Amino acid sequence: MLILVVNAGSSSLKYQLIDMENEHVIAKGNCDRIGIDGHLSHKTDDGRTLNEDCSFPTHTEAFQKLVYALTESEASVIKSMDEISAVGHRIVQGAEVFPETVLATDEVIDKIDELAPLAPVHNHAHALALRACKKVVKEGTPMAVVFDTAFHQTMPEKAFMFGMPYDCYEELHVRKYGFHGTSHRFVSKELANALGKDPSELKIVSCHLGNGSSITAVDGGKSVDTSMGFTPLDGVVMGTRSGAVDPSAVCYVAKRKGFTPDEMSDYLNKKSGFLGVSGIGSDNREICAAAEKGNKRAQLVTDMLCYEIKKYIGSYAAAMNGLDAVLFTGGIGENSSEVRQGVCEDMEYFGIKIDAEVNKSTRGELKRISTPDSKVEVWVVPTNEELLIARDTLALISK
Ligand code: ADP
Repeated sequence: MLILVVNAGSSSLKYQLIDMENEHVIAKGNCDRIGIDGHLSHKTDDGRTLNEDCSFPTHTEAFQKLVYALTESEASVIKSMDEISAVGHRIVQGAEVFPETVLATDEVIDKIDELAPLAPVHNHAHALALRACKKVVKEGTPMAVVFDTAFHQTMPEKAFMFGMPYDCYEELHVRKYGFHGTSHRFVSKELANALGKDPSELKIVSCHLGNGSSITAVDGGKSVDTSMGFTPLDGVVMGTRSGAVDPSAVCYVAKRKGFTPDEMSDYLNKKSGFLGVSGIGSDNREICAAAEKGNKRAQLVTDMLCYEIKKYIGSYAAAMNGLDAVLFTGGIGENSSEVRQGVCEDMEYFGIKIDAEVNKSTRGELKRISTPDSKVEVWVVPTNEELLIARDTLALISK
């Protein structure tokens, strides 16, 4: 059975075609620069590739190109879209409306669109992609929608409320939603499997560290708190995002620099973080390389990141009244031994001890990096959000 997984943004359409018999990715690609000009990159599991400049005025043309790549091009893998049993779509914001994966009926798509004010960059694009996708698959092909926020809907009120007037929550729906939920759900379950335990027996701090980063407290298989908030800007310092700052500093800077709210948002989302503090770039590899050469601001932002993650681990251990394991995932979490080392050093009080050599040699693989006598296990767990979306989709259509 073949499932197509779609991750659509405002200007891109990433996809993977997965054979659910063996959970193998048959082909994947990206229709990029939608609404600008257009570029297709496509790759099959047997090594064929396509790279073409195209014209993608809207998501519809991008989907048409995806169909061409999968069914007609020299890198095709199926004869027709009829061979696809279902489509799973990644959706950023499901708010309180969608606590779990559901089928994308017309009402569901409209509702996703209605939630756009809570995720201005993403939800409207998702709705456009869902409508465009419906046109290119066989009529009646089920589509599932899997929400980044859904896993965090188990957070208690005391964790998700902000100390603002209650009508902000009631009228404007301002609260902590949390993101990366599909990843945190996937990796925390993978870790439970690796430990031979049921998720209900474990207290885990899951550190998803990439261009965007979030830390989640997973107690008994459920998210009970997370570092990203109303939007993915909150929490630790990221590639180009500031992470949490005193809200008064935001008002002060906006006033002093004469920024509109949108300009201020741009400043915090696109010009801050590793990029803004270091002045070098947003990529962790560049930052670590510069820090190694003695660049002080590159070292500073790395130190800030590690320190902030450390504090989340401590506070979530307190919130859960215990800690069995810490896991690292995402591009940085899976690959950067420097960041993992920086987070885990001087954590003996919490029962965390990592093996420096094992840590150094671990990259992108499921592996324990703590010492055998470490009370808290520390693991690297590769994430695979697309696979979880495909599994969710399969589970839903099998019901
Ligand atoms: P996104 O949040 O966009 O999905 P990723 O999870 O792919 O991002 O993570 C991207 C980050 O991972 C970048 O900062 C990149 O520098 C970092 N990264 C990727 N590979 C390595 C590596 N080998 N060593 C250190 N950092 C890495």
